[in-house]
Amino acid sequence: MSKRIYNFYAGPATLPLPVLEEAQREFLDFKSTGISVLEISHRAKPYDEVHQQTEARLKKILGLGDDFRVLFLQGGASTQFAMVPMNFLSPKKKADYIITGSWAKKAFKEATRYGQIKVAASSEETNFTYIPSPDQLKISPDCAYVHLTSNNTIFGTQWQSFPDFGEVPIVADMSSDILSRPFNPEKFGLIYAGAQKNLGPAGVTVVIIRKDFAESANDDLPTMLKYETHLKANSLFNTPPVFSIYLLNLVLKWLENKGGLKAMVEINQEKADIIYDEIDESAGYYRGHSQEESRSLMNITFCLPREELEKKFIAEAEERGMIGLKGHRSVGGLRASIYNAMPLEGAKALAAFMREFRKENP
Ligand code: PMP
Repeated sequence: MSKRIYNFYAGPATLPLPVLEEAQREFLDFKSTGISVLEISHRAKPYDEVHQQTEARLKKILGLGDDFRVLFLQGGASTQFAMVPMNFLSPKKKADYIITGSWAKKAFKEATRYGQIKVAASSEETNFTYIPSPDQLKISPDCAYVHLTSNNTIFGTQWQSFPDFGEVPIVADMSSDILSRPFNPEKFGLIYAGAQKNLGPAGVTVVIIRKDFAESANDDLPTMLKYETHLKANSLFNTPPVFSIYLLNLVLKWLENKGGLKAMVEINQEKADIIYDEIDESAGYYRGHSQEESRSLMNITFCLPREELEKKFIAEAEERGMIGLKGHRSVGGLRASIYNAMPLEGAKALAAFMREFRKENP
């Protein structure tokens, strides 16, 4: 096999090698069916087993009780930006949005079409360098939900713990940090995540929904845009993205073997520390975008002293087998995305290169 390189892209992102190998092994003959999983009917028994197992695994790993359901939808997290307010708002209903980045802003914009939406807090004035503290949040106690983005992929900030809004449920976009750490699901009415970072390949959107919250949804909506449709049909109302769900199942198996979320967060912390330590020890050569107390374990954003050095860094990193390090245009600089599947060696290799580069390019 050709040499695997370290892939720091923000998404689609690196996948665990054992997962890719297993998919490769059974690619042409799925579970002795004589056909590929790409060719199988979503109503056939061998696929149904995958579907059930994926849901059960996700619930077990996340510690979700019987009060939660898991859905496999399509349209990405971006469709959820609209589907959430369509289902849970009306011109008379309120929702609060916490704006910590571009994706949160997009979610907010969609919601303004369906209800009375208020910004509960925003860190835009600093170009999203921090997560607001609980005392900065202005929450209306009569709102249907509070929306937040758990990890801001572009800016490299992450909620370190989730606030408590009492009776008001949280709706969270967890696209870029789901399964990276344990959390208490009880505060959440709904969680959504596009798969292409920590879950698997693009094409499936995981939606976790609390049953009592689901019951408060509107009825007068197009069939495909109602959560109820998919809840009733167990995510098989129409053809689901079979291959993406199959790969998600393999990723979940890999995560179980790693020791679940408790083990995962330790590994993620170790990887992130290696890179943040190098930023902190560089005496201002590398400047992190995020304020220290809001730093993300998934996306590390930083600048170099000059733009031409950033170009050189990216080119030389590529020569050493490290790709996807260019930052998003709204932040500039560099971004290292180190999701669950990034091996510890990848973080070490990047930090070692950062050290070497700053010594050679003062
Ligand atoms: N939310 C977050 C936090 C993201 O990082 C992304 C994509 N990078 C999205 C939403 C949009 O996801 P999708 O492309 O699946 O619609």
